Amino acid sequence: SDVKGLKIEDAPLPKSRNLDVLSEFERSKSKKAASFVVVGHVDAGKSTMMGRLLLDLNVVDQRTVDKLRQEATKIGKSSFALAWILDQRTEERARGVTIDIATNRFETDKTVFTILDAPGHRDFIPNMIAGASQADFAILVIDASTGAFESGLKGQTREHSLLIRSMGVSRVIVAINKLDTVGWSQERFDEIKNQVSGFLSATGFQQKNITFVPVSGLHGDNLVRKSSDPAASWYTGPPLVEELENSEPSARALAKPLRMTISEVFRTPQSPISISGRIDAGSLQAGDPLLIQPSGEKAYVKSLQVDEEPVEWAVAGQNAVLHLTNIDQVHVRVGDIICDPAKPIECLDTFTLKALAFDFLMPMQVDVHRGRLHAAGRIESITALLDKVTGAVVKKKPKIAKPATVARVVVKLNSTVPLEAGQRVVLRSGGETVAAGLLE
Ligand code: GDP
Repeated sequence: SDVKGLKIEDAPLPKSRNLDVLSEFERSKSKKAASFVVVGHVDAGKSTMMGRLLLDLNVVDQRTVDKLRQEATKIGKSSFALAWILDQRTEERARGVTIDIATNRFETDKTVFTILDAPGHRDFIPNMIAGASQADFAILVIDASTGAFESGLKGQTREHSLLIRSMGVSRVIVAINKLDTVGWSQERFDEIKNQVSGFLSATGFQQKNITFVPVSGLHGDNLVRKSSDPAASWYTGPPLVEELENSEPSARALAKPLRMTISEVFRTPQSPISISGRIDAGSLQAGDPLLIQPSGEKAYVKSLQVDEEPVEWAVAGQNAVLHLTNIDQVHVRVGDIICDPAKPIECLDTFTLKALAFDFLMPMQVDVHRGRLHAAGRIESITALLDKVTGAVVKKKPKIAKPATVARVVVKLNSTVPLEAGQRVVLRSGGETVAAGLLE
């Protein structure tokens, strides 16, 4: 047998029903799955808006919110209650062994959404990059109140937009928030909309992939239901939640070879080695053989779960728990990639990256991060500076790349790791993010 680890785990191989998973998926009424990140300047109202959205969708109950309101009032910060909903959910989820505890999930009639990176985390930028590396789209929250939009533009609004774009996110829903503070001024909305669409297209977003919704996260206007404020009647478009539902997940690559990054490894009643993660591409079913990279070891899917329910198959875009068999746990680590043994991902030690520089880039030591995978290496050379929007070469072999420029860099790793074209990675140095981009 080519299956190693049999001494430890010599269970009989699980049976496969050999389903045609793609047609099963077509036939099933399964909801669309979409993931997004929430970005924007600090205090733009990201947490409040998401908390209110979850409340209005009945994902959290009024009792929980009342309890949070009481606690918030006690410490003199009553406005924080809604923002705490996300934290509260994270804590609750942390108690049970379920799917990746860092993800927040909710669903509407049509779609199951995953909020990648709950805003409000202390270590926000690294989380946001990790989130953006898996996101189908982003919600950019902008504070419309007087002066706040302008200082936000100088602050994190631009930085976050560049970052998510360079991580491959192409669709953005702009929530122009706190419109209650400017009396629902359409003029203010239009002014902000014009400026933001200007800089988003300069950042490389196509106009057709940008949508604007005027909201008040605090009062719940235009989130799930239309604003009832007469001053807001000029807005005739859909509320935010409909815009979320209209956001077709980016090409799911259902028919591509299986790729899934392990975000957790744990023990369950079903198996001493269960793993969770999001399926990035392809599909799988119970009984399937899997290849784990970089160890190159094979394992089998004994059974699986999606959204905590036992299922027979899973497809790209879903968060799955796989119960594995015929594998020794030393070969299964967080950050590893599960793939199709017939079409495995290669392990590389050198790659070319189209990177947005956050800091000066030159030949230097860097850590490469992709989701939970990280590996030490070095920028070997910078082969070109590129136009931010068109990607055309503007300068060959520069000595350095300045912050906010886009460059093609060659990175050499100290070890081989599973990587392939189209993946989004981040380069860090001395604890700071120095660049983010797409593997070419
Ligand atoms: P974050 O840092 O982006 O997550 O921002 P928070 O959600 O913590 O909100 C920052 C502050 O703005 C809090 O005091 C909120 O109560 C307030 N805020 C958020 N959304 C609104 C809104 O729609 N209207 C008004 N008036 N205040 C808001």
